[in-house]
Amino acid sequence: MHPKKERTFVAVKPDGVQRSLIGEIIGRFEKVGLKLVGMKMVVVDQEHIEKHYTLDPEWRRITGEKTIASYKAKGLVPWTEDPFEVTDRVLKNLISFMTSGPVVAMVWEGAHAVKLVRKLVGGTEPLTSDVGTIRGDFVLDSYAMSDGDNRSIRNLVHASGSVEDSAKEIDLWFKKDEMINYKLVQEAILYDVNIDGILE
Ligand code: ADP
Repeated sequence: MHPKKERTFVAVKPDGVQRSLIGEIIGRFEKVGLKLVGMKMVVVDQEHIEKHYTLDPEWRRITGEKTIASYKAKGLVPWTEDPFEVTDRVLKNLISFMTSGPVVAMVWEGAHAVKLVRKLVGGTEPLTSDVGTIRGDFVLDSYAMSDGDNRSIRNLVHASGSVEDSAKEIDLWFKKDEMINYKLVQEAILYDVNIDGILE
């Protein structure tokens, strides 16, 4: 498979839709050169979200550890040292967040699609996400606020963490015939070895 065929799954979360940021978010991926090959607006149920977040068997441990580490980095004491207990709470809140309204599910294709999209999206916590990233530029939420209110952190967008995850997530959210194989004219300048034929 040519590297330009790499695909990643992205969802504009309910807060992104409510903030009227669908176009802004799509624009960022378009501008970097990625190609949109699937898109739909959906309202999903609890089972779907639970499945989505547990496709990676390591997700529960990693998410819990990440949260505990972020507490400690700020000099705070986490409410438990057990990453799985942390994730139980995170998942429960994520389910009510992600099922609260429409989300825009998308598949983006292009070289390094997974890594590029994660870079453009930024870190999980908007407060500490880099300036220039979607989460860093368009939202002000923090672990301190979300944990204080026992809710999910509102960070506008989900993006697959690895090529393996993206394949599973695309499979969960999209049927094969909901994605379209097509060419974009800009692919010539992005990928072709020979770019003769521009000058007349
Ligand atoms: P990411 O979406 O950056 O890959 P994770 O996969 O770790 O992050 O978590 C999934 C989503 O769960 C996050 O985007 C966020 O909305 C929510 N979340 C994760 N950890 C926490 C937490 N400690 N407190 C509140 N919400 C969280």
